[in-house]
Amino acid sequence: MLPTTITTTAKKKPMLLINDAQRHRYLVRIHIVEGIAFWIRFIIICTDLSAASGNIVNNAHDSLRYLVVILLFELFTSFILFIADSLYVILRYLGRVFYESDSDDLCNERKYLWPLATLTCLKQIDCYYDHPHLILLTRVCILIGFWLLRFIAFCLACACGNQYSPRGIAYAVISSFSLVISVFTIITEYLHYKRLWTYHPQNNYDATYNKAHLCFLPYSLINDQRITEWGTSTCKRGKKCESKSLFHLLVYHSGEDQFKPKHDEQNPTVFGFHQTKTNLAYIISQDARGFIPSLKGMLGAGVYFATSINHTETKAHNFGAYICVKVSLGRVYRTNKREMPSSTEKYDTVYYEHESGNDEFCILNSEQIQSWIITVNEDFDVNSNDRDMFNETLYTPCF
Ligand SMILES: [Zn+2]
Repeated sequence: MLPTTITTTAKKKPMLLINDAQRHRYLVRIHIVEGIAFWIRFIIICTDLSAASGNIVNNAHDSLRYLVVILLFELFTSFILFIADSLYVILRYLGRVFYESDSDDLCNERKYLWPLATLTCLKQIDCYYDHPHLILLTRVCILIGFWLLRFIAFCLACACGNQYSPRGIAYAVISSFSLVISVFTIITEYLHYKRLWTYHPQNNYDATYNKAHLCFLPYSLINDQRITEWGTSTCKRGKKCESKSLFHLLVYHSGEDQFKPKHDEQNPTVFGFHQTKTNLAYIISQDARGFIPSLKGMLGAGVYFATSINHTETKAHNFGAYICVKVSLGRVYRTNKREMPSSTEKYDTVYYEHESGNDEFCILNSEQIQSWIITVNEDFDVNSNDRDMFNETLYTPCF
């Protein structure tokens, strides 16, 4: 069954701290403050522990139970965050000193260190391959989890201070201020995540978008812009990958990769690729009708798609924006010639199987398109003065 009529979504407004450089500076400073606050709390709790363990009079020894648990919570949360933040600073600001060479060994080493530095190690779990947009959201959730554990430590310190004053009191006071600072950190981290997935290259944040439009993915995040060896895919599933996620396709698969429909599959869903001018892509993204089918063409009237990103380079008449769609083919008319089906044929899609393997297809109705993601090569953007100046270097280490 084909999708229902396409409608438009609600209006979107620019977010807070949208300036990448400003937000990044803010994040670095707030994490430095968090690091300093951690060491102050750590020294206080160690001092309390030392005093409690050396004094067994008046049941002061019992306060050890509280203090040890608080110390463990701190080591599991703030200390891990401090190590990750320190590693991030080393890799980001001193990385050029350590990694002057681009040899594979050094690149691989850096590849393993960045997930530790950005707390994105969980991206190795299979589900994140299909949903790469959840990687940074998980980082935010980890920070919220850390905050909750520290809040429990704060409550324990209050209880300890109540029973065994002055043990735990100084820690509780400093911790209360630190928890407030951490709330700002979490809010800023959430904005950092949101910024990536609500990015609009034409800087038009008041526009309404077609329901099928998922997002604009920054060009620097697609697979081919992040790899050093051309044509390689970063998807660990390799050629056997059967992911149906557009996010996965763009972030982890080479522009050469194709996902062709199986011959015996009924109403197959495939990925299609269309390249056009950046301005036309913006119009399509905001038009409630989406793609307007052409009145004529090699395979007849309809909307044309290539089966790989790279193949659009030889098929397109206009360049700059890649529209990657997920589309239901419906009834497929297969051919290995440049021909239009006869008028008696019942079909929704003409699928042209090239001898070279670079297949293409033409769908009759744009409502067959389920969703799309647009990625814009900034070098072709004619409206470069109005462009949203997105800083991709803040995000590429996370993928
Ligand atoms: Zn894959």
